[in-house]
Amino acid sequence: MEIKFYKVLLKKRFPLAISRGVRGDSSNLFVAYHREGITGWGEAAPGKNENAGTIAEVKKQLIQLIKSGIENLSPQEITLIAREMKIAPCALAGLDIAIWDWKAKKANLPLHRLLNFPLPTVPTSVTIGINTPEVVKQRIPLLLDGTSTKALKVKLGSPEGLDADKDMFAQVLESVKKYDVKLRVDANGGWNTLDAIHMMKWLAERGVDYIEQPLEEGQESELKYLFPNRPLPIFLDESCRYADDIPKWAEHVDGVNIKLMKCGGVTEALKIIEKAKSFSLKTMIGCMSESSVSIAAAASISGAIDHIDLDSHYNLAPDPATGVRMSDGISIQDQVPGHGGVLKEKYYA
Ligand SMILES: [Mg+2]
Repeated sequence: MEIKFYKVLLKKRFPLAISRGVRGDSSNLFVAYHREGITGWGEAAPGKNENAGTIAEVKKQLIQLIKSGIENLSPQEITLIAREMKIAPCALAGLDIAIWDWKAKKANLPLHRLLNFPLPTVPTSVTIGINTPEVVKQRIPLLLDGTSTKALKVKLGSPEGLDADKDMFAQVLESVKKYDVKLRVDANGGWNTLDAIHMMKWLAERGVDYIEQPLEEGQESELKYLFPNRPLPIFLDESCRYADDIPKWAEHVDGVNIKLMKCGGVTEALKIIEKAKSFSLKTMIGCMSESSVSIAAAASISGAIDHIDLDSHYNLAPDPATGVRMSDGISIQDQVPGHGGVLKEKYYA
């Protein structure tokens, strides 16, 4: 077994503003897992909320994990050890995704087939961040023209308050009239309980499909006030990281958003899917700032998921990897052995 790391700067077409701040260009760590003449590809997107805010921290933690002796262990065993060692989930995800790619390549199967999942059939959302109405007016055609996009995820929870949210959303409604797109909203925890009650009604009246993370992480006990008369389905993102979090909030939500960087990779994501289903919850799969490598891994399990937000690679200029394209609105991975994502050779430095 030999593991190599490649640091790559991801340049964004548009910076992404959410309730907590703006994210511009970022660097990700790509992981090449070589064994028996086969290379598996993984990707880690550092994140402060994921306990490793820089590439250096991700790499340090991964080297620590690898040195603990993981060579002949299963992804499930490695995940347990990583959890005990307090390895950041975004770092673990880089290795876990690479090992699953390797396993599927070794079996000569696309990863979704190895896992017994169908190909994805649900169109992905494409995200528009918090912006002024003027920017929204310019941005929406840039996002949608010439694409087969069928859903737009609108970030709300503006630090400037509900009027700013409403002004932005009104422009979104105006700008999407000429497109056939569904709308859903992610507040990224930017509202208090009363704001959330008010905004969910306001957005339901305007045809929104569902709301994601209305309340700030840590305020989950307030969900019991939102849930009973909710006009829109409620999904948790920041409030739900691992399968073990699901029973805590299952009574007061409709579904959970899975992210490979948040949970530690494909291994834990599979547990979340199973656990969510056992509580009759819907599932969503999303992403951080990621290229086609980790998006391909997420797409490989997305055939088992209800709502899809696998779009961060469309906001890269350029995407340093290949493996996922949009076909009839669906983010679909290449049909080759493995998850399909590969870092382009010119980045092997
Ligand atoms: Mg979210």
